[in-house]
Amino acid sequence: MIQGDLKVAAPIRWAMVGGGRGSQIGYIHRCAALRDNSFQLVAGAFDIDPERGREFGQALRVAPERCYPDYQTLFAEEAKRPDGIQAVSIATPNGTHYAICQAALEAGLHVVCEKPLCFSVEEAEVLHDLAERQNRFVGVTYGYAGHQLIRQAREMIAAGELGEIRMVHMQFAHGFHSEAVEAANPSTRWRVDPKHAGPSYVLGDLATHPFYIVEAMLPELRISRLLCARQSFVTSRAPLEDNAYVLMEYEGGVMGHLWASAVNAGSMHGQKVRVIGSRASLEWWDERPNQLRYEVQGEPVRLLERGMDYLYPEAREDDRIGSGHPEGLFEAWANLYARFALAMEAMDCGDTGAIETLAVPDIHAGVEGVRWVAHCVRSAEAGGVWVDYH
Ligand code: NAD
Repeated sequence: MIQGDLKVAAPIRWAMVGGGRGSQIGYIHRCAALRDNSFQLVAGAFDIDPERGREFGQALRVAPERCYPDYQTLFAEEAKRPDGIQAVSIATPNGTHYAICQAALEAGLHVVCEKPLCFSVEEAEVLHDLAERQNRFVGVTYGYAGHQLIRQAREMIAAGELGEIRMVHMQFAHGFHSEAVEAANPSTRWRVDPKHAGPSYVLGDLATHPFYIVEAMLPELRISRLLCARQSFVTSRAPLEDNAYVLMEYEGGVMGHLWASAVNAGSMHGQKVRVIGSRASLEWWDERPNQLRYEVQGEPVRLLERGMDYLYPEAREDDRIGSGHPEGLFEAWANLYARFALAMEAMDCGDTGAIETLAVPDIHAGVEGVRWVAHCVRSAEAGGVWVDYH
């Protein structure tokens, strides 16, 4: 079921803050947002350096007068235009998200924010309340969740194909920062500096991805308590961790385990989610995102492939090029951005019910990611002890 249709009635007038030339994540935001004509890039404050930002914006064919020196000017000037922006994506270092997101919501804009939404639960709740008051959508780019087979897993679990869920294992453990690469790489340097990265490194930067994938697959699951131990194997990174283990107890007796690492030497990406039930298990690995392992106890392993007719319709809804051809991160992000656009459109029309069916990482997912990191840090700081979750 190849989906080539445009999803929204009219493209949403869209800007970016950050995501300038050479940034790690700016390009994929633009590729994803522009893929289905759901958004139209009309303005931006792309760089911390105003001149570089202006030059880059123009290279992206944004009108020179709409390439602004900073986000404050962007929001103020766009509000004066009859054709001003309706939405903004924030792709700046973590320490700036809270202020920019707050300013964007106050300016009446829909927001797509990079993770983490902010640093503390208190800040996250302020953003949550503000979004509600302003009736604006906030999406968080847990991009991997846009892979079709994540939706397939959700439907299989809901249909009881795994039996009763017993355990969830999550990991995001790469090896790219096994040495102090930050000495020569500014994009990594801020990630290990609490002023810019917040209270954690790999917990916030990496672990929140598989953590959200589990939320997407098992939306009813609620953590009751957790225990976290974190380490800085490259000692100059302390107090921020480059490796962490988290044990979780969920309501109803489900157990969870998460390993996050940037020092898993030799590993490329190492992001995996395994859900184990009384009858069968599912496993998804982001290095083979087009396959979902379905292992029924006592039967041969099945590899479910993206795009096939045997998948649930909810998963095939995202299909772009049919079976056989591989899809990847660009398509996953584009699926997410397409749903963000639908959520923004639904919100503008007052159709909040439609948003519920989209299974999209929204403000609640953003708040939950911040809350989870805060509890992990609290447990680790206390010496790796169990802490109640709510
Ligand atoms: P980066 O350091 O490579 O790029 C940051 C960009 O933001 C640069 O262009 C910089 O000039 C610009 N910038 C900084 N402060 C700004 C400001 N106040 N106003 C305007 N522009 C500003 O960082 P990155 O790796 O691209 O990460 C950016 C964000 O994306 C971070 O929050 C990071 O956690 C997140 N990220 C998410 C994913 C994902 O999979 N969702 C992957 C990588 C990074």
